[in-house]
Amino acid sequence: MNQSSSAIALHDETQSDAKKTYSAKVYSARSATSALAPGSIQRRTPRPQDIQIEILYCGVCHSDLHQARNEWVSVMPTVYPCVPGHEIVGRVVKAGSAVKKFKEGDIAAVGCMVDSDRVCPSCRAGEEQYCDGPATFTYNSVDTHIGGVTYGGYSESIVVDEAFALRVSKQLNLAATAPLLCAGITTYSPLRHWNVKKGQKVGIAGLGGLGHMGLKFAHAFGANVVLFTTSPNKTEDALRLGAHEVVISKNEAEMQKHLGSFDFILDTVSAVHDLNAYIDLLKRDGTLTLVGAPPTPSPILGFGPLARRRQLAGSMIGGIRETQEMLDFCAEHGITCDIELIRIEQVNEAYERLLKSDVKYRFVIDMASLK
Ligand code: NAP
Ligand code: ZN
Repeated sequence: MNQSSSAIALHDETQSDAKKTYSAKVYSARSATSALAPGSIQRRTPRPQDIQIEILYCGVCHSDLHQARNEWVSVMPTVYPCVPGHEIVGRVVKAGSAVKKFKEGDIAAVGCMVDSDRVCPSCRAGEEQYCDGPATFTYNSVDTHIGGVTYGGYSESIVVDEAFALRVSKQLNLAATAPLLCAGITTYSPLRHWNVKKGQKVGIAGLGGLGHMGLKFAHAFGANVVLFTTSPNKTEDALRLGAHEVVISKNEAEMQKHLGSFDFILDTVSAVHDLNAYIDLLKRDGTLTLVGAPPTPSPILGFGPLARRRQLAGSMIGGIRETQEMLDFCAEHGITCDIELIRIEQVNEAYERLLKSDVKYRFVIDMASLK
């Protein structure tokens, strides 16, 4: 064989290796209206830079529900079958020859992204979630390796480039760590970006998966924290989780007492609600940052922002470097999520409870129940 034909042969072999797959058990939605049910999908066999993770725990994010039910159809239509899940913690069962960060037997975690173009300005800044590529999200993104779409963590295993896998401290409870990979970083990142600190009055709207982590972080960063909830029965928990004060957001008189007084409010609410009421609570140059992603638009009255030069902003998860920083911060400060551990066959019931704001404060699936 001459040099050029051997180069082609090698190239062919690499191509076919890249397409090799194995079958993995999953729970998936087959349509926007069907319940999640058992099935199987193909995953790529690990390449040199990949790790294969046996999934131990996967959190249930409200985004999983929005996506499984195709509620974001105008922005990110769902491709079926859809395997949700982007709060993943597991054990490395295979490590490719070029992998440096992990070895077999290590604990590894995966959040909302599994790749990005790595060259655009956002990737260079370590903000891969805003990749121009765009980023490859853990589920319902184009799978650039084997075609089709990516499949998430309601599965027995996942294969990911080590650059998008995170290290988890042995000191942390693994089930209670899983939701840090989305609920944790999605609240940590904006609180850090807007420099929330001691001496500030900070609001967190909604006490669900994201909200309870926002509360813990804002408290840890030293702010005076007010929790806004529609559920009066969550008041005691909110105080225990770090709120200095709890406001029932449906009570107009209670809301009025706080007009023009907040430096920063983080809105984690999953359903459409009145944003103007929160904008009015900001002081001059205060910021309302949306992380909640309700599928329907919310009208804004221009007078709210213009009256005190207030700002309305948004934030999406966080980059890989910052996600590792958040996990390390949690290990150092003993912060994890408050969870309800469920079996995989309880996931449909969990979705119904999410819709009733009835979770304390994140469902986590024990993936051993899928075996
Ligand atoms: P969750 O656990 O269901 O919590 C949402 C909370 O919103 C509920 O517990 C409830 O809190 C409040 N709420 C629900 N319906 C409401 C209504 N009609 N009016 C007022 N408040 C209401 O959801 P999650 O997993 O934390 O996710 C929250 C949102 O963030 C979802 O839309 C999700 O898709 C989005 N998300 C965004 C990102 C991002 O990168 N930006 C990442 C993850 C998730 P109370 O009972 O305290 O009122
Ligand atoms: Zn999420």
